[in-house]
Amino acid sequence: MADGPYCVIGAGPAGLAAAHYLTKSTDCATVVLEGDPQVGGLSRTVEHKGFRCDIGGHRFFTKSQEVERLWREVLPSDFLRRPRLSRIYYRGKFFNYPIRLGNALAGLGPWEGLQVLASFGKARLSPTHPELSFEDWVSNRFGYRLYSMFFRTYTEKLWGIRGTDLSADWAAQRIRNLDLSRTLLNAMGIGRGKQVASLIDEFDYPRLGPGQMYEGMAEQCVSRGGKLLLRHRVAGLRHENGRVVALEVDTPDGRLELDAGKVVSTMPLNEVVQRMNPLPSPDVLEAAGGLTYRSIMTVNLMLDRAETVPDTWVYLHAPEVLAGRLQLYKNWSPEMVPDPRFSSLGLEYFATEGDSLWSNSDRSLLEIGKKDLSKLGLAKGSEVFDGFVTRYPKAYPVYNDGYQGRVDVLRSYLAQFSNLECAGRYGQFRYNNMDHSIMTGMLAARRLCGEQCDPWGVNSEGEYLEQR
Ligand SMILES: Cc1cc2nc3c(=O)[nH]c(=O)nc-3n(C[C@H](O)[C@H](O)[C@H](O)COP(=O)(O)OP(=O)(O)OC[C@H]3O[C@@H](n4cnc5c(N)ncnc54)[C@H](O)[C@@H]3O)c2cc1C
Repeated sequence: MADGPYCVIGAGPAGLAAAHYLTKSTDCATVVLEGDPQVGGLSRTVEHKGFRCDIGGHRFFTKSQEVERLWREVLPSDFLRRPRLSRIYYRGKFFNYPIRLGNALAGLGPWEGLQVLASFGKARLSPTHPELSFEDWVSNRFGYRLYSMFFRTYTEKLWGIRGTDLSADWAAQRIRNLDLSRTLLNAMGIGRGKQVASLIDEFDYPRLGPGQMYEGMAEQCVSRGGKLLLRHRVAGLRHENGRVVALEVDTPDGRLELDAGKVVSTMPLNEVVQRMNPLPSPDVLEAAGGLTYRSIMTVNLMLDRAETVPDTWVYLHAPEVLAGRLQLYKNWSPEMVPDPRFSSLGLEYFATEGDSLWSNSDRSLLEIGKKDLSKLGLAKGSEVFDGFVTRYPKAYPVYNDGYQGRVDVLRSYLAQFSNLECAGRYGQFRYNNMDHSIMTGMLAARRLCGEQCDPWGVNSEGEYLEQR
């Protein structure tokens, strides 16, 4: 059984990067098992009557030469270099991001500008102690007024928890590199003037969306003899004597069992543990049950107008709209629409599986999207001629109190399996971008091939670009 194939669970960026390495560097059979009908995972592009929509636009940006080489190998001539224009929508106005002083004051007005400064001064003179919540942490550093304008609403939409209920530790970890506050303070002459790496002015984007990259990667794996099985969801990992010996897979034709030689898993970390056969001890299962995720639903609307706003994406800090962010696909690439007379956009809604927002039918989500769009004043309802909804459960690993301890419990349980490596954003329960996810996939594959490397060492500092 140990001679069975390399099995890769999941055909997102991490799984495909692993399969890319394995089909290139080994003679062993490689099988990629993907539960969904298409590849790309969260980085897929969904096609609808000639319109191409992402699950949130995906910038291609990396500091890793290896990832850059892989991307260029797959798409040598299909990248567009895009300038970044992303603004914040708040109180009926668009604010530049990063904020510029003139633009901010023109938007907020001099009176509000003074209040922001006064609130900042107050926070410096009499900060809240003890600093328990996200709200305390941010307000102490930036003033309550700035917190309530540019942190509270978006964060609460994204994570579904009130700022007063999120821990201060979480803020310290997540906001370490968040640029908005520092940039705003710089703009107002309060900051220390340090330019933050996250504000990338330009980035790459495949002309047909991020899905083009991962469809290309999958094709290359298959052309080298790899097997890609779509609609094949791994439901169980049978193990004996510290090895995963077989995968139990749900397919359109029923359940099958596949011998497993070596396994790269990019399925959610807690699910891999919960699907072990036999199951682990109750304390390990309890740790697995304590890891939670936020999910994303994107309402994609097709408009009978060529343009709306010039941004690639807009953060919706306005509490009056339910959507958290807006993607303008045609501004990422003109080829995302079938006809230049039309445009399309994606409203992102963050939810927890099973909550009231998630439970809406697609039809009512489309109505919510149209209402939000008209509140934003970007298009009239009569200009929307088509639409569809994508749902992606488990899009954001939630860093709640104690999550790191739970991840450690799962890691040490899984370490006993000599032929299993976990990779990817969900596979490692880490808030990774595509490049980090890809690196973990490559390293997991190499480790299974006998190299001394550590897939868990990637992005262990929690470096990230911004809340995405
Ligand atoms: C809104 C949003 C915007 C983003 N924007 C950017 C960006 O601009 N730039 C950037 O670099 N990154 C961005 N990211 C992050 C990026 O999407 C992820 O880092 C990347 O897709 C993670 O790849 P992955 O392979 O680890 O996981 P995924 O993309 O989730 O892929 C996992 C795959 O495994 C499959 N799977 C799960 N369970 C099973 C199972 N039991 N059996 C079989 N298959 C299974 C899933 O169907 C999926 O296809 C963004 C993320 C979000 C949420």
